[in-house]
Amino acid sequence: MNSKDLEKKWDIAKSLIAEVLEELIFNTYVKNLKAVVLDKKNNTLILTHTNPMAKDIIYKRYKSIIEEKVNEVFKEDSNNTGNLKIIVILPDEVEKYKEELGPRDGKRIDKIVKKSLFEGEDKLLNPRYNFKTFVIGPNNEFAHAAALAVADAPGEAYNPLFIYGGSGLGKTHLMNAIGHRIVDNNPELRVLYVSSEQFTNEFIQATQTNKMNEFKIKYRNIDVLMIDDIQFIVAKDRTVEEVFYTYNTLYDMGKQIVFSSDRPPADMLGLDDRLKSRLASGLTVDIKIPDYETKVAILKNKAILEGIEITDGVNEVIDVISERLKTNIREMEGAFNSVIAFSKLRRKPINRQIAKEVLKDMLSAQDTMPTPDNIKKKTAKAYSIKISDLEGKKRNREISNPRQIAMYLCRELTDLSLPQIGEAFGKRDHTTVLHAINKIEEEKKFNDALNERITSLIDEING
Ligand code: ADP
Ligand code: MG
Repeated sequence: MNSKDLEKKWDIAKSLIAEVLEELIFNTYVKNLKAVVLDKKNNTLILTHTNPMAKDIIYKRYKSIIEEKVNEVFKEDSNNTGNLKIIVILPDEVEKYKEELGPRDGKRIDKIVKKSLFEGEDKLLNPRYNFKTFVIGPNNEFAHAAALAVADAPGEAYNPLFIYGGSGLGKTHLMNAIGHRIVDNNPELRVLYVSSEQFTNEFIQATQTNKMNEFKIKYRNIDVLMIDDIQFIVAKDRTVEEVFYTYNTLYDMGKQIVFSSDRPPADMLGLDDRLKSRLASGLTVDIKIPDYETKVAILKNKAILEGIEITDGVNEVIDVISERLKTNIREMEGAFNSVIAFSKLRRKPINRQIAKEVLKDMLSAQDTMPTPDNIKKKTAKAYSIKISDLEGKKRNREISNPRQIAMYLCRELTDLSLPQIGEAFGKRDHTTVLHAINKIEEEKKFNDALNERITSLIDEING
């Protein structure tokens, strides 16, 4: 029986079972059962479930009622004796049955079970983020070329690919583009794109509900794994370990891995050297801040995609935004949308004037971002030391501790890079700054007094 027919008949059987079981019980145990193979030789219907607990309970309580309904529906397909049995297999039992069933059904079983673990995952790719909609400029051409190469030869070109760059510069866009292109070219490849948050949540949930097995099967049966914003994972120890194991397993099987982060592997705070060197062992590419022409091209492209007519006024708006907004394409897109929405609302023509009006508010918010001078001033005051001490060479704790805190605050409250922060503190090296930030972040984990102090300092600085 082909899988379509099998699925159809199993659906009918399920609807019969739904009539006799409590809704909650049906939903918990039966609804997610999938039919894989009708094994005529052994007169069994093979079903699969991803949850071992559910399997136990099905066997204990509901097997006979399921079999009864299955026999009603599959009467002509079995040997007509009415004693068709069901078997429920779990993802980690697939291997065993694959052998028993022979190559054809074995393959089918493998596919269905593994697929059921991925259900809905490909929907996580954002359809708007693909290579066609990605504008190439001098700031991203290397990253773009690497992404394209990886998409065309996953696991072969550059592995792992590590993409880093500031917020809103196109990392997530590129990763999604890789995913789309691979799926388009090879629909049978399993591509998984996850945010670091999702990975962490799934991992924690798996450990808490005893589903590590399932987690591992999911994350280790992937052809392409992409983890976005990996900087968010680093502080959480056990998750880091899991990334490490997952990475090793996939890498050894020649599977493609792509990471993104807001900083290069070497600057990843609190990450142990093993993983750092793994992350950097393939190709590391960065995306820089786009120049004016690229910004214009991106915004124009975006306007066209949204069906906005490119009038002279729209060009003016794009021009104003590209000149004034510096570091983040997401913010530029937001500004563009605001201008369009504002002009509609006020029934005013779209032009340079209205763009300036809308941007005024946005930019004044940006202008109030604390400066390192302000941060140094407030920190020095709070610790009763001199600003020049923060910039100077003294290394006693009374001075070095506030200095580290001030550096930490610069990282938190401004968008200065590590070298720029170093510059503001007596031309210190960026690794010194990194060390300072690292130390404060660690200390904050257990030192409540420090936490309070930092919170009140931040209030003070933000005025
Ligand atoms: P990141 O993940 O680096 O924070 P995103 O990938 O989310 O940034 O990009 C932010 C926005 O900017 C998205 O809407 C994205 O489509 C757009 N964008 C960034 N770079 C480009 C580009 N080169 N071409 C077209 N759109 C871009
Ligand atoms: Mg992103």
